[in-house]
Amino acid sequence: MEQEKSAAQANAHKGVWIFAEQRHGQLISTAYELLNVGRRLASDLNAELSAVLIGHKVAEHAQALIEHGADRVFVHDHPMLENFLEEVYSRLLCELIQKAPPDKFLLPASILGRSVAARTAVEARTGLAADCTELSIRKDSGLLNAVRPAFGGNLLATILCENSRPEMATVRPMAFGRAQRVAGRQGEVVVVKVEPERFKTRTRFVQFVREDSGEQDIASCDKVVSGGRGLGASKGFDLIREFAHTLGAAVGASRATVDAGWIPYRHQVGLTGRTVRPKLYFACGISGQIQHLAGMSSSEVIVAINTDPEAPMMKLATFSIEGDLYEVVPAIIGELKHRRGDAVTHNSTNSN
Ligand SMILES: Cc1cc2nc3c(=O)[nH]c(=O)nc-3n(C[C@H](O)[C@H](O)[C@H](O)COP(=O)(O)OP(=O)(O)OC[C@H]3O[C@@H](n4cnc5c(N)ncnc54)[C@H](O)[C@@H]3O)c2cc1C
Repeated sequence: MEQEKSAAQANAHKGVWIFAEQRHGQLISTAYELLNVGRRLASDLNAELSAVLIGHKVAEHAQALIEHGADRVFVHDHPMLENFLEEVYSRLLCELIQKAPPDKFLLPASILGRSVAARTAVEARTGLAADCTELSIRKDSGLLNAVRPAFGGNLLATILCENSRPEMATVRPMAFGRAQRVAGRQGEVVVVKVEPERFKTRTRFVQFVREDSGEQDIASCDKVVSGGRGLGASKGFDLIREFAHTLGAAVGASRATVDAGWIPYRHQVGLTGRTVRPKLYFACGISGQIQHLAGMSSSEVIVAINTDPEAPMMKLATFSIEGDLYEVVPAIIGELKHRRGDAVTHNSTNSN
């Protein structure tokens, strides 16, 4: 009986959806990452890929979503949707799910995505796999294989949602690359009319306060210099900051240093921190435990600086420098400054 019900449900639910998150009217990169993985899943199912956009003055992003792989974009655009309110956003998503039921629905595992996904899944009476790092389609059943790290990253758990639809998952930012743009790609834009009574909530938006630390963000910078317990003390981050500043990089950290109170949590890279995919990642005094690697192993070039040649990070790294970071890092900074000085002299000579 349960199987008959789920088969009937599966037939009524069609296509793959992604939630295209925007902040302050701008799409964030997870929208393009979800389009990338969503397109692959939709192709495997021979199904359509749709993006759902909610906000104010966001309709202009529909074409960008289509050019990055969406066949259809559902747009909810209203001044009352400018600021995120979980109740409203999940209500709109649930109504859309009822009107045009999807088979799979992917949302970003961002702060906004996690909260709206959980509420939507409960209201839509379906299952949700959280913080997934791999997604694929089962050949036999067409079900979503939603893979996520479990038990502190020591295991990868595959989660199936067999009996309810849509199958929902939140996807870890940076777990997938961005979709390629195909200029001029055509698709359908569906403008969803939002009735004013949909904005009745028990919560209200008061104010958005931006934290301005003046530092580069680790998730968006293409170079990251991270420090670990090998720094020995919080003061060691002064050297890491100088290194990052010289290189034009963001400052990352291992959990050991965050737990020790040497640096705020927003710098933490790893399973319980943030995922980064920079072109260049420096790991200074970081051993490379699996939970740290979970957040940075997709970096293009990894440079490890460690006194222990047997440390896992030294094995993983593209370039391993065996030595005391308090000798190696100042030497690299000195060389960078020297080269930059040469370049300035060279340019000024040319311009004269
Ligand atoms: C559920 C769970 C989630 C976790 N999530 C995360 C996470 O998100 N991110 C994370 O980072 N960790 C996480 N951890 C912790 C993780 O297991 C490690 O404990 C942590 O990453 C170790 O940090 P570290 O490499 O800085 O320290 P250590 O493992 O102590 O390594 C220090 C390294 O510095 C080297 N060293 C020492 N002195 C010097 C020197 N002068 N010069 C150069 N090298 C030197 C040593 O040889 C050593 O390799 C998690 C753990 C659990 C159980």
